[in-house]
Amino acid sequence: MTEYVVYAPDDGTALGVVARDDAASIDVKADRALQAMSRWSDLTPMKRAEALLKIAEATRERLPELADLLAKEQGKTRKEALLELDRYVGPFLQYAGLATLAGGRHQRLGGEVHGLVDRGPVGLVAAIVPWNFPASLFGSKLAPALAAGCGFLIKPAESTSLITLELARIAQAFLPEGLLDVVGGGPDVGDLLVTHPSVSRVAFTGSTEVGRRIAARAGERLKRLTLELGGCDPFVLLEDADLRGAVRALMGARFYNAGQVCVAPKRLVVHERVADEVVEAIVERLDRVALGPSLGADSTMGPLHSEASRDRIEGQVADAVDRGAKLLGGGRPTGSTYDRGWFVRPALLLDPAPTSRVRVEETFGPVLTVIRVSSDEEAVAVANETPFSLGASVWSADQARAWRLARQVPAGYTWINSLARVYDELPFGGVGASGFGREHGIEALESYLEDRTFIYS
Ligand code: NAD
Repeated sequence: MTEYVVYAPDDGTALGVVARDDAASIDVKADRALQAMSRWSDLTPMKRAEALLKIAEATRERLPELADLLAKEQGKTRKEALLELDRYVGPFLQYAGLATLAGGRHQRLGGEVHGLVDRGPVGLVAAIVPWNFPASLFGSKLAPALAAGCGFLIKPAESTSLITLELARIAQAFLPEGLLDVVGGGPDVGDLLVTHPSVSRVAFTGSTEVGRRIAARAGERLKRLTLELGGCDPFVLLEDADLRGAVRALMGARFYNAGQVCVAPKRLVVHERVADEVVEAIVERLDRVALGPSLGADSTMGPLHSEASRDRIEGQVADAVDRGAKLLGGGRPTGSTYDRGWFVRPALLLDPAPTSRVRVEETFGPVLTVIRVSSDEEAVAVANETPFSLGASVWSADQARAWRLARQVPAGYTWINSLARVYDELPFGGVGASGFGREHGIEALESYLEDRTFIYS
C-alpha cells in the first residue's frame, strides 16, 4: 500500500499521512465487513439503537478536538466545524429511534393464504463523499445504514481523510470489528469500491460529472444507488418580500463554508424594483466578512479547500466579467496571513450575460450571481435555466404567489420565506443533474433496506 499526505488549506501545513488502499486491501475490508454484518444485523433493533446512541455520545465528548481537526483539514472556521459535527451526530440520534420501527408487515390474502414482507439490510454499503462536508455527509449515510443492519465502507476525499478516520475510530468502538472501515484513496480506489462484487449499495455525494460515471458503473452491475450531486440553486426575491429577512437568509446560506456548499443559493433572481436596495444590503454585509485562518479567533470565513477550487471559481468570475458582468468585491487578499492558503474574498457578480459560465455551471466558492427580472414568468425562466435542481428559495409576502412560483421550480428542497436550513427529519436530495435518491428522514433508512416477500398458507 502507498500513502498520501493531507495538507491544511489555510497555510499548507502537512497534517498527516494516510494509507492508500488497493484491490487486495479492499477485498480484505469488504470480507470483514460482510462477516461482521451477519452478527450486527442479527442483533435486536434495540441493541443497534443503543450502539448508535453511544456513538453520538462518544463523539460529543470529543467535539472541541474534532472541530479543530475538521476546521484545519477542510479549511472551514471552528464555528462552522462545530455546526457540521452537530449535523454528524444528529442522524445517530434520529436513526437510533427509527431503528426500532424498520419492521416489515403481514397481510392476509384470503382464506388461509398469508403474505409476509420481511425487511432486512440491503447489504454492504460503499459510501463515497467529497471534501466540503466530510463529517456530516458521512453521518447522514452511516447512521441509517447501521440502523438497517448494513456493513459500511467509507471513502472520503483524500484531502479530508483525517477527520473521517477519527470519526470512524470513535464509532468502531461500539460496533462489531470490521463492520465499519475507511478506504483511503482517490477516484481509482472509489471505482474499485463501486464495482466490488461484495458491495450491494453505493451512496455517493459529489459532482454531477463523477455521479454520471458512477451511475454507469453501478448500473452495469445493478447495484442500489443514491446520487447527491451538484446544485446551482436560485434564490427568487420578489418586490413585495421581507427584504431584510431575505438578505439575512441569503447571506447565511451563500457564504457559509466559503460558498462550498452543494445546496446553496448561488443565483439571486431579484425583481428589478428592489434589486439596487438588495445589492446595497448585501455589500454592507460582505464588508463585515472576516477572512482568515480556519482556527483564527476572529475568522468568519476560511480559505477555499484547494488550489483547484480557487482556480475554478476565479475562472468563472473572469469569464462573467469578460462577458460584461460587474464585479463587486472578490480577488485574493494580500498579507502574510494569506500567503500560503487558498484565500479568496467574497464577491457579487451583477447582471452576467446568459451565456456566462456562472449562469449554467455550479459556482463552488464565495460568489453570488445577481440577475434582475421584471416578472414572475421571467423569474421562473431564469430559476430553471441550469440543469441542476437541488434547492430553491422563494421570497414574497404573497403566500399564494410564492407557492405558485415555487411549484414551477422543480427543486428537491424548496424554502418559502424561510432560512435555508436542511432538517434531519425530512428527505433531502435532488432531481435532474442534481441526482436521485434521498438522504435524511425515514426515506433514507428505507434506502438501506431490502424487502423480501413470502407467501405462506
Ligand atoms: P467529486 O465528484 O470530484 O469527488 C467526490 C468523491 O468521489 C471523492 O471522494 C472522489 O475521490 C470520488 N471519485 C471521483 N471520481 C470517482 C470515480 N470515477 N469513481 C468513484 N469515486 C470517484 O466531487 P468534489 O468536486 O470533490 O466535491 C464537490 C461536489 O460535490 C460539488 O459538485 C457539490 O455540489 C457536490 N456535493 C453535493 C452534495 C449533495 O448533497 N447533493 C453535498 C455536498 C457536495
